[in-house]
Amino acid sequence: MYLPDFDYYAPPDLSEACRLLREFGSRAKILAGGTDLLHKMKHEEFTPEVIISLKNLSALREIRSEPGQDLLIGALATQNEIANSSLLQEKYRSISEAAWNMANNQIRHMGTIGGNIVNAVPSADLPPILIVLGARITLVSTEGERTVPLEEFFLGVHKTVIRDDEILTQVIVPAQTTTGSTYIRFGLRKSGALAIAGVAVAVTMEGEICRSARIVLAAAAPLPLRARQAEQVIVGQRVTPGLLEQAGLAAAQESRPRSSIRGSTEYRRDLIRVLTRRALHKAIQKEHI
Ligand SMILES: Cc1cc2nc3c(=O)[nH]c(=O)nc-3n(C[C@H](O)[C@H](O)[C@H](O)COP(=O)(O)OP(=O)(O)OC[C@H]3O[C@@H](n4cnc5c(N)ncnc54)[C@H](O)[C@@H]3O)c2cc1C
Repeated sequence: MYLPDFDYYAPPDLSEACRLLREFGSRAKILAGGTDLLHKMKHEEFTPEVIISLKNLSALREIRSEPGQDLLIGALATQNEIANSSLLQEKYRSISEAAWNMANNQIRHMGTIGGNIVNAVPSADLPPILIVLGARITLVSTEGERTVPLEEFFLGVHKTVIRDDEILTQVIVPAQTTTGSTYIRFGLRKSGALAIAGVAVAVTMEGEICRSARIVLAAAAPLPLRARQAEQVIVGQRVTPGLLEQAGLAAAQESRPRSSIRGSTEYRRDLIRVLTRRALHKAIQKEHI
């Protein structure tokens, strides 16, 4: 299967990338790891006239944070770089674990965090954990830059608030006050299978009392879904096994999963119930984020 013809640019810096994107607008597509874009082009789901590769923008690969400051993950950081980052393993283990458990080694080697976000598919594994940790993203164009809470970025399947002339440059994760977070997912195989359902959780515990909780579901709606009713079940309460089961039921009820070849609506709802209970239990046990 061959790629259709296109013009190819690999600009040396971000300002030239933005200028090219401004010039070609909706006729162009940004190329990051290419794991999704090239597949879609081969199947002619996308036929861009121009490809703008970000491969020379090495500054967008950085993962860094100063003590007590926000964590900055460059949009071109690959899933393997996120999984293997000692900074993330030490301070934001739930993000590195989410990256480690997705896709397969070949895809993780090429696929970037920026592509995983902009692609905007409901089963994407990184947005849920980033949303529960309160992440924001930076979008840059020739007109300047803006910061958008990741929770407000998604509008539906392949639909986001990014404009044709904007490039996602970094993900900003605030320094955490949560006491535990995790993302767990269920796929049909251990490697290389998209999530049939996934649940990300961040909690703040004070003894046995849950002071705050954020729960975001993957593959449960056309976009990453905040399970607010499930959150309300546990916030302010002493956590018991029965309460976690109730929260799981609430998450299942508020989810809107589709039926597909990988799983029916009813099956996905039941997975969401179980995964929510397990994710809450795991996050509450954790003494790190
Ligand atoms: C076999 C296989 C298994 C997979 N398994 C999983 C999985 O388990 N979990 C999962 O979440 N995903 C999975 N994926 C999907 C995919 O690999 C990921 O979403 C990946 O992170 C996409 O990143 P990329 O850098 O390859 O994006 P690309 O393919 O380069 O780009 C994807 C889209 O985002 C746009 N884009 C990319 N970067 C930017 C940017 N910085 N600014 C603006 N626009 C940008 C591109 O124009 C394109 O429209 C799988 C894919 C395959 C082929």
